[in-house]
Amino acid sequence: MTRILKWTLLSLIGLFLAQDALLQSAEPKPRSHIKIRGIYGGAPTQLLEQNKRLPELGVNAIFMGSGSLTDKRIAQLKQQGAKVFAEFNTLHVANYLKDHPDARPIGVDGNICPAPQGWQGICPTHPGYRKYRMDEFRRVLKEYEIDGIWLDYHHSHASWERAVPEMPDTCFCDRCLKQFQRDTKVSLPEAPTSELSSLLLGKQKAAWVQWRCDVFSDWVREFRSILDETRPKALLGTFHCPWTETEFNGALKNKLAIDLKAQAKYVDVFSIMPYHARFNHPKDPAWISRQTAWLGRHLDIKGEPGERLKIWPIVQLSDWGEQVPVEQVKPVLDHGTRLPATGVMVFRWGSLHPQTDKVDAMIEYYRTIKP
Ligand SMILES: [Zn+2]
Repeated sequence: MTRILKWTLLSLIGLFLAQDALLQSAEPKPRSHIKIRGIYGGAPTQLLEQNKRLPELGVNAIFMGSGSLTDKRIAQLKQQGAKVFAEFNTLHVANYLKDHPDARPIGVDGNICPAPQGWQGICPTHPGYRKYRMDEFRRVLKEYEIDGIWLDYHHSHASWERAVPEMPDTCFCDRCLKQFQRDTKVSLPEAPTSELSSLLLGKQKAAWVQWRCDVFSDWVREFRSILDETRPKALLGTFHCPWTETEFNGALKNKLAIDLKAQAKYVDVFSIMPYHARFNHPKDPAWISRQTAWLGRHLDIKGEPGERLKIWPIVQLSDWGEQVPVEQVKPVLDHGTRLPATGVMVFRWGSLHPQTDKVDAMIEYYRTIKP
């Protein structure tokens, strides 16, 4: 074969493959690696009341707040072949502070740190609050026949679910400072909190950041042990911030106290939250699959059958601040269902259901990718 002929043939093959790839991304078809096609935010009662059934909608999983679970609802959804997963608020039950003001996060100046944009967090070492959440976690798992439970708001006192996050440094309460010294063997001088906080965010930053991450990871360890005792077949998932470990100056660890690798010891499913419109990528649904791909590399998850860890992104279809136009439903779900993801769910039914054109587009997509 002449060299020119060889090159021509190779180019033609290349062109054919490229075109095929383009067609594949444009036309959804069954995606057998996607096991979960979910809706977050409760059962789609508006559709069920029209006598539609979940299998014909392509939906096979419902995520609902643990406070709205009922036996009847769970049975109804399971009858239609769906899995039922509960969402569980870990560190964001602001009501608790009414009777327990000592659980308020303390800022760098030693005073109570106001809730950033209303997002109230809780001191992660408050023993009463921790017991309160663990007891509730156990109760939910014992009482309801759920297929899994997802941690939510498992991060420090911060408002990060927006384009420009607000993440004050906390918690410098006496309890946290004492526990830090006990756990890390670092001893702090006798000094006002304002001085200690600058030491902890300066010279001792590495030890401080890792200790905070370890405190939050230890909550996850305890959640796992409760799940193993009460409903061992259920999955433990977490809804978590979609940033990489380097974005926003490493805020995932050094502000939010999320150590994904440490939590991976206890968690089965990582539900990364790439709300593209909300988080400043309104014209770029591909951001979803880029963040998911990073997570896969970070945790060594490929989306292959038999892997212990799984990634099921929760993607934004409902409007929240920024609007998600109906034309984006397909690309958002396309990027949300690319490997290493093996499941997906849409955020969130309560505000999505009146936008029936988007609901129809979601159903169409789910039905198309259903194996
Ligand atoms: Zn504290």
